[in-house]
Amino acid sequence: MDWSSFPREKTDCILCGSSSSRLLSVQKTWPVVRCSECGLVYLSERPAEKALTDMYSKAYYEDGDVGYKGYIRIFEKYHDTFMKIFSRRHRDLLRHARGKRLLEIGCAYGFLLDYLSSRGWEVQGVEISPLSSEYARNELGLDVQTGSIESADLKEHSYDVILLLDVLEHLHRPYDILGRIRELLSPEGILVVQCPWELYHWEEFSEAIIRGMRPGTIEPDSVPAHLYFFQPRTLDAVLRKGGFRIYGRQSGNYGSIRRQVNPPVISAGNPIERFGRYVYFRLGLQRFLYFAARLLHLGNGMIRYAIPDEDGQQ
Ligand SMILES: [Zn+2]
Repeated sequence: MDWSSFPREKTDCILCGSSSSRLLSVQKTWPVVRCSECGLVYLSERPAEKALTDMYSKAYYEDGDVGYKGYIRIFEKYHDTFMKIFSRRHRDLLRHARGKRLLEIGCAYGFLLDYLSSRGWEVQGVEISPLSSEYARNELGLDVQTGSIESADLKEHSYDVILLLDVLEHLHRPYDILGRIRELLSPEGILVVQCPWELYHWEEFSEAIIRGMRPGTIEPDSVPAHLYFFQPRTLDAVLRKGGFRIYGRQSGNYGSIRRQVNPPVISAGNPIERFGRYVYFRLGLQRFLYFAARLLHLGNGMIRYAIPDEDGQQ
């Protein structure tokens, strides 16, 4: 896809409103900046919301370099790995949830919903892509609506759990969506948010230094689909500003699927680099560091459990 001609809009920091920022890098013609006031890393110029919604509603899961290519095929091929991830998620949800009525926003093909439904959850989903939401409805028989939670027909105050997994970093108006979520949650309902820790996570931070670049300047995942590149502090601040109180934090690691789909290249660069890659990827150094990182809350996946804050800012 030719991103240079995509309709764009400029934006200030969504966290503190400041327009003052420092340019970190330009990725596929999109400027990645760090807010001078609060430190949020974001695209100061981003795809116009309408144009991006149109794009998600077509190509996102099928082609292009920002989506999941052949997701169904990947799901079937790495079924066991997915099942492990889903079962861990299920265990975590059981620890937190007070009831079993669950809504997933951005549920894609509905694989997680399907799993949870088979474990006795009453599930519903909303998904912007007609392609994947249709799959969820027709192939998996799930109650999934095509669109956004602003357009979907959903019952207020009726969900014990709302899942927002790998979605927040895509949203042009995160506070509108968080506000709608607060209306949809039941009195004891919880919001579960997951998103990647990008650019300033220790692994990408070290990678930049090893490659002789300034930290924060390597290419983040999925530009321009990701509009923000959160770290723990900025993620928490956005949720608080959206009217939520965070009561639980968990750390995980992305990459168990990706490593199998696209195994890291060992034979690139000079002999020292190759040796480093061999030790890191093949001899299990990465695996060990990921394990330790999860325990220390330093994994590249950030998970938050939150409830509406009655004294919140909205
Ligand atoms: Zn800011």
